[in-house]
Amino acid sequence: MRITLEGKRALVTGASGGLGLHFAQVLAEAGAEVTLAARRADVVEAEADALRRARRKADAGALDVTSGDGIADFFAGRPAFDILVNNAGIAGEGAALDMETDAFRGVVDTNLTGVFAVAQAAGRGMREAGGGSIVNIASILGLRVAGHVAAYAASKAAVVQLTKALALEWARHGIRVNALCPGYIETPINEAFFATEAGKALVRRIPQRRLGRLADLDGPLLLLASEHSAYMTGAVVAVDGGHLVSGL
Ligand code: NAD
Repeated sequence: MRITLEGKRALVTGASGGLGLHFAQVLAEAGAEVTLAARRADVVEAEADALRRARRKADAGALDVTSGDGIADFFAGRPAFDILVNNAGIAGEGAALDMETDAFRGVVDTNLTGVFAVAQAAGRGMREAGGGSIVNIASILGLRVAGHVAAYAASKAAVVQLTKALALEWARHGIRVNALCPGYIETPINEAFFATEAGKALVRRIPQRRLGRLADLDGPLLLLASEHSAYMTGAVVAVDGGHLVSGL
């Protein structure tokens, strides 16, 4: 069975790099017309350009998910999206006793309020169009905790619960809302940490004894984005090599 997204319009937030850019590439490869959104318009324009040169359908636009006006401007004049991947997020690491309240608010603003605001804007278009699929990128840290990530873990747990609440409210509009919870995925940003002893010890606690690769997320993403998951909504899908079930 080959999953095709021909004729579908998809939006990916935080698509300037990391997981978001990869998600945009995967959706485009499956045939979707993808809009790459991020704060830096020049970066996503260049990535959309590269996709078009590879004969994919892509465009780009500036979007800061913490800006209500920015979100309204972004959606104004754009046709409804069939698929939204709510990916933009920040880490905001730090010891809880030392964390400034404003820094905590900043994490919640991007990771939770941003996810809600973009889902609402996209959801209004989906309601008019008769339905759609929203994939919220949460994290295994929304389901378990680790040190020095209080704001991040709390915000991602809230994304998991928001996903369920929106799934309940929007099922009547044909809108499915699911959460994808990646485990530790190897990217250029974290490879230095995973080369350290602490990083290697962490990997030993993952039942599959390896980090995730970007490609490990492709199948779950395409499943949730496409009609192949037509009867899934409010689901929380972990992609973590078994990390959540590691032994105590
Ligand atoms: P990253 O820092 O490489 O990418 C985050 C993206 O979000 C960037 O493009 C950034 O510009 C964008 N962004 C940040 N604030 C924004 C804002 N206000 N408006 C618009 N865009 C904004 O990180 P990543 O590892 O690619 O993470 C992507 C998502 O996946 C995040 O939600 C993250 O929490 C989640 N995640 C990542 C991992 C992992 O191992 N990398 C694991 C679990 C969950």
